[in-house]
Amino acid sequence: MTSDKMHRRDFMKNATLLGAGMTIVDAARLAAQEEESAPPPPAPAAGSTTEIPPLAGTVPRRKLGSTGEEIPMLYMGGSQKFDTKYDKLLHRAFKLGINYIDTAEMYAQGQSHAGVAVFQQQVGRKNLWITTKAALTGTKMTPENYKTHLDKCLEELQTDYADMFFMHMIQSEDNLEPDFLKMGEEIKKSGKAKYFGFSCHHGNVAQLLQKAAKVGGIDAIQFRFNFRQYGDTELNNAIDACKKAGVGLLAMKTQSSIPNDIEKVVEFQSKNFNLFQAKLKSVWADDRIDAAVSGMTNVQVLTENAAAAMSPVQLTMNEFHQLNRLARLTAPYACLGCNHICESRIAGKLKVADALRYLMYHECYGDPETARLLYAALTPEERDFDGLDLSEAINTCPQGIRIDKRLRRAKELLLA
Ligand code: SF4
Repeated sequence: MTSDKMHRRDFMKNATLLGAGMTIVDAARLAAQEEESAPPPPAPAAGSTTEIPPLAGTVPRRKLGSTGEEIPMLYMGGSQKFDTKYDKLLHRAFKLGINYIDTAEMYAQGQSHAGVAVFQQQVGRKNLWITTKAALTGTKMTPENYKTHLDKCLEELQTDYADMFFMHMIQSEDNLEPDFLKMGEEIKKSGKAKYFGFSCHHGNVAQLLQKAAKVGGIDAIQFRFNFRQYGDTELNNAIDACKKAGVGLLAMKTQSSIPNDIEKVVEFQSKNFNLFQAKLKSVWADDRIDAAVSGMTNVQVLTENAAAAMSPVQLTMNEFHQLNRLARLTAPYACLGCNHICESRIAGKLKVADALRYLMYHECYGDPETARLLYAALTPEERDFDGLDLSEAINTCPQGIRIDKRLRRAKELLLA
């Protein structure tokens, strides 16, 4: 490791996230000040127009926890609707060694499975790794209905088995109680899934990881992990515990997307990577993470992401610092999903983190349809904030988010 190149894990030990309660104007001002005092950039700005050389080879593979399986370090997110005749993107990804597709019952308004089903028939089931997930929003899942939903997933995917079945978006540690772990074992014994795990992106990710490391029976976890969490000691300890216990760790939400115009407050500069690639590289630089999922909706994104995965070049110290600065300056626009912090300080059942996540689908993913559907699925009590006192929640939000303004924005955009 040279003085300028470092693994993210080492960097994380020294980095501290500032709780930024600033407006974007403040942020821009601070960014300008920082730019003045920052060392000169290593090369002209790459931005998102970095030239990607023709790709040769395939995406490297890493071991998934203690399963003994090797999976591509970059895998395909399935929240999009795939072409049910011939999906060019899936085929192109497959040629690049990305043979792992992560789908879910609810993705693409229930239509993701259909495209994956056709694709697996075209390339051969045994040549793919397919994981799927089940959850019911607003309804408590029991072991029995997880099993029923797995059957439905397999039917839709037109396959006898999933390589892994996840309990999707779990929030409660109850999901790691013996009856659920027994269900996981039964599913594996039945051959309907080779492995069993869960996904989570709410505020108690660290607790869930810690519990998973203790109880056993969880083969892998898909969880929110990105450059904004450099200084999260609790999460780092939980990741260490999982690694020690042989639990596979799959990163999602690696881009930590915020609106484009806000992200431009820091002009990421690198001679090697654009910002999107750098965010992925920062996750892969942590050798505790086995792979990262990405929702790759066009050839350019797929090619850029695969190129980043294949590149032996690591992020420089300067690039890590730029990401850290970006995290600080744009914090008020990046909800981390720690809903236990804000929602416990608001009377009633307001779902702040969910509403802000749906806002992100609209503002950043360009998927207003899904955003509106999910927002509409919230009950009026979970959605309406008029008359509620949000001041304590705003004051304690670690990201300094003006929850009132962002919820208003969500309402304007999503209740149209
Ligand atoms: S609004 Fe703040 S406290 Fe609430 S979930 Fe988002 S980051 Fe956490």
